[in-house]
Amino acid sequence: AAKSAGRSRWCFFSFELHQQAIERQSISNDLRQALSNNELFLVFQPIVDMQTGHIRKFETLLRWQHPNRGLIPPEAFIPIAEESGLIAEIGDYVFKESIRQLADWRRRFAMDLMMSINISPYQLSNPEKYMSDWFEFLHDQHVPGYAVSLEITENMLMHHTEAVSKQLLAFRDEGINVALDDFGTGYSALSYLNRLDIDYIKIDRSFVSELTEEHMEKDLCEAIISMAHKLKLKVVAEGIETQAQAAILIKFGCDLGQGYLYSKPLLAQDAEALLMAQQV
Ligand code: C2E
Ligand code: MG
Ligand code: MG
Ligand code: MG
Repeated sequence: AAKSAGRSRWCFFSFELHQQAIERQSISNDLRQALSNNELFLVFQPIVDMQTGHIRKFETLLRWQHPNRGLIPPEAFIPIAEESGLIAEIGDYVFKESIRQLADWRRRFAMDLMMSINISPYQLSNPEKYMSDWFEFLHDQHVPGYAVSLEITENMLMHHTEAVSKQLLAFRDEGINVALDDFGTGYSALSYLNRLDIDYIKIDRSFVSELTEEHMEKDLCEAIISMAHKLKLKVVAEGIETQAQAAILIKFGCDLGQGYLYSKPLLAQDAEALLMAQQV
């Protein structure tokens, strides 16, 4: 009995793995169509000046409205896009759509708004194809490099150091900022912060969510912020949900903040309404 139970359990696991593989393949196939069918779109989450509460930037976050599966979060399809190579085309869409929206808002609201765009290091493996294209696009849209930040996660950076660092430095030459995303969750040597000429670090939500007077996350956040400032980096805290968290971060001199306390990621027209309200 034990033997047959064992065997059937083995069959069960193998069946699950098989199902997962089929599922990934199916998502990968659909993703190929998603771009041309306009199923991918961006939402925009405000990043505010922690002292004044004013919107300084938006982070663009990708969404997929699948025809039968509904709304699919990026964590469920970005890794598949990276595996299949589709990330290059998707990343190109994200960059250009983000810049187009930024150019439009900068014109209409006459403000020095900035945009922060997530990129995957897998996009940077074939850079000649689009780099000059992106720079040209920026110039055509009259967006200065300093108004753009590219976010790369600390973990990803560690696995792609050589090729990626060369690309990041090329972006830096155009004045584009580089932000180290999910800071504190990876194992980066601090020397990278200087070597790659990083501009911003984004303290990961997992630290911010534990940020209370009693937790040691408070000391960690304080240490990260003062270290960053010593290295002349700006700090963005992500995932701020409560006034108490914001108050502690303000006390530590955190530069910028992002999270549900200020706003969830918004559709373009809702983000616009916020900008309009801020102007009066
Ligand atoms: P991320 O870049 O660290 O983005 C922050 C994530 O935290 C977003 O999830 C955002 O919706 C969520 N968030 C923001 N404030 C709060 C808060 O106060 N509380 C909570 N609980 N969550 C908050 P989202 O949009 O699901 O994105 C997940 C990840 O997917 C992103 O993490 C980023 O790494 C990746 N991603 C999103 N869009 C893109 C893209 O266009 N390209 C690439 N390569 N990756 C992307
Ligand atoms: Mg990000
Ligand atoms: Mg982040
Ligand atoms: Mg994060």
